[in-house]
Amino acid sequence: MFLGDLELHLLIASHWKADGGLMFGVVPKVMWEKHKPPDGNNLIDCACICLIARINGRVIVCETGIGTKLSEKRAQQVVLREPEGLLHALHRLGIRPDEVDAVVTTHLHWDHAGGLTRRGEGGSFELTFPKARHFIQNSEWDFALHPDVRSQSAYIPDDFTPLMDGHRLVELIDGSAEVLPGVEVRHVGGHTPGSQVVMLRSGEFACVVTGDVVGMTPHLRVPWTMSADLDALQLMEEKARLLDEAQKHRWLLVLSHEADQPAGYIETDGRWRPEPRLT
Ligand SMILES: [Zn+2]
Repeated sequence: MFLGDLELHLLIASHWKADGGLMFGVVPKVMWEKHKPPDGNNLIDCACICLIARINGRVIVCETGIGTKLSEKRAQQVVLREPEGLLHALHRLGIRPDEVDAVVTTHLHWDHAGGLTRRGEGGSFELTFPKARHFIQNSEWDFALHPDVRSQSAYIPDDFTPLMDGHRLVELIDGSAEVLPGVEVRHVGGHTPGSQVVMLRSGEFACVVTGDVVGMTPHLRVPWTMSADLDALQLMEEKARLLDEAQKHRWLLVLSHEADQPAGYIETDGRWRPEPRLT
């Protein structure tokens, strides 16, 4: 679909399952299970949503999902399906990985950054998008290299350290910035120290990739946060501000883990109105 001059393609890079308690933190199960029914193992259906945009002659990939190199054991634990979805979707759009100009991930957790790298011939890790500029918050990069004890299992260095090798394609950002014409990152923190949301703009139109600030539609309720959030109060503050602006300015939101209608708008009464052209 088009928003002004902004061409958008939404895709599900993979389907997987996450523990319901992990996704909804302190929210009582009797409340969240109405929205996301768990299976017998308390797992709920999730997706990794990526957005491919063409803006001002450039191809931008927002979020890269789990990717293709998760260990077999972990892939089984999370019931991973279609791990090659991102590359297949690019192929369908006629875009080669080396034609991608920029990649923006909201943060470096394994389920957002896994697709940044893949295993090449001979087993070494190579960049999935070998010519793209990669925009990541400086604070996220530092934390991912030296995570606290609670966050260690959420970061897999092979997902992102190859970005610093060789061509050094990573560009570390401090705070909010317009990184390319029409492409902004906004530092929000909360979920991780360096979490950011991605904004794509064309004239009065904007599309925002929310990362784990609003992972799924139930997270549109401000107090509904994930148990992985390191600073839940900061996250709630940033989320409230983002949702308020999104409703006021009619921004299109893309929710990074929502399997069912992941793109939409906030109505004036606060309801979610899915955008059918992107689902
Ligand atoms: Zn995360």
